[in-house]
Amino acid sequence: MNLIDGKAIAARINEETRERVLQLKRHGVTPGLAVVLVGDHPASIVYVRNKDRISQELGLYSRKVELPGTTSQADLLRLVDELNRDPQVHGILVQSPLPPQIDEPTVVRNLDPLKDVDGFHPLNVGKLAMGDPTALVPCTPRGCQRLLLESNVPISGAHVVVVGRSMLVGKPVALLLMQKGPGGDATVTVAHSRSRNLPEITRQADILIVAIGQAQFIRAEHVREGATVIDVGINRINSPSRPAGYRLVGDVAFDEVAEKAGAITPVPGGVGPMTIAMLMANTLQACRLQTGLHQPASPTNPSIIP
Ligand code: NDP
Repeated sequence: MNLIDGKAIAARINEETRERVLQLKRHGVTPGLAVVLVGDHPASIVYVRNKDRISQELGLYSRKVELPGTTSQADLLRLVDELNRDPQVHGILVQSPLPPQIDEPTVVRNLDPLKDVDGFHPLNVGKLAMGDPTALVPCTPRGCQRLLLESNVPISGAHVVVVGRSMLVGKPVALLLMQKGPGGDATVTVAHSRSRNLPEITRQADILIVAIGQAQFIRAEHVREGATVIDVGINRINSPSRPAGYRLVGDVAFDEVAEKAGAITPVPGGVGPMTIAMLMANTLQACRLQTGLHQPASPTNPSIIP
């Protein structure tokens, strides 16, 4: 079994990003990322801190905006508008979840699609579905694709089974891997909570991608011998012996599945670090799109793969 080390791969990609930031700086452009946190959701505080820290480490201009949990929708939309017009900011990320008085889809629709580094704006979702290489693609799906590419797992012609159909992970990763061209050309099946005989479906997978948010749900019986397993899930389970009182596990029962899989991502240290690395890559792509330094896609350099 080959362990797919997302942490090491993400570190390598971040190094490439640092180089590319330097190249852009030589053109007089510093890519900029604004991360907006509303309220004090504990996990969000950690995510925002990490995103801000890594973007600074890679030489990006980073702007962190922290707003109280009582912020009105109108005030948040005013901030989004200001960031849309700020030439120093090429990427905007509004950290989810938002407090109940704020309608998240409205916020997303008000982002400049060229600055939508999360890839959630309807225009970017549409572009991804159409295979337009200028699409800003959601970071976690892009991270899954890049893990496969970096691990030399053949995607073209492979049967990929995606479990989960969220707009955040399941749907976009399915669209990405069925694209025509490099990094795509897979035969994709999408399963969800209403799918019948899930183990029968997942056992057909050459590549199994799981994003359901159910701790250790996927067992050895779901996996074909030699398959590649990408575990997107992040779940906290009680662990009184740990200082934090919990530990993180994926949607896959790692130990038993690892015995059967050809390759597998761990949790933590698999997809998670790739998500942040792809956010940085998306900010660079957004910067290139906005400054006219966008490199057109080609088979050897598809812009959808940084
Ligand atoms: P959602 O809750 O939005 O979607 C879950 C999907 O899984 C739904 O489509 C649901 O089906 C399906 N599902 C739930 N239970 C089952 C089941 N028993 N069998 C088959 N399908 C099932 O979750 P997200 O996509 O946002 O996130 C999924 C996981 O990935 C979470 O653990 C999350 O924390 C993690 N995550 C990790 C990231 C990372 O960077 N590593 C980034 C984003 C998410 P239905 O549509 O029918 O309800």
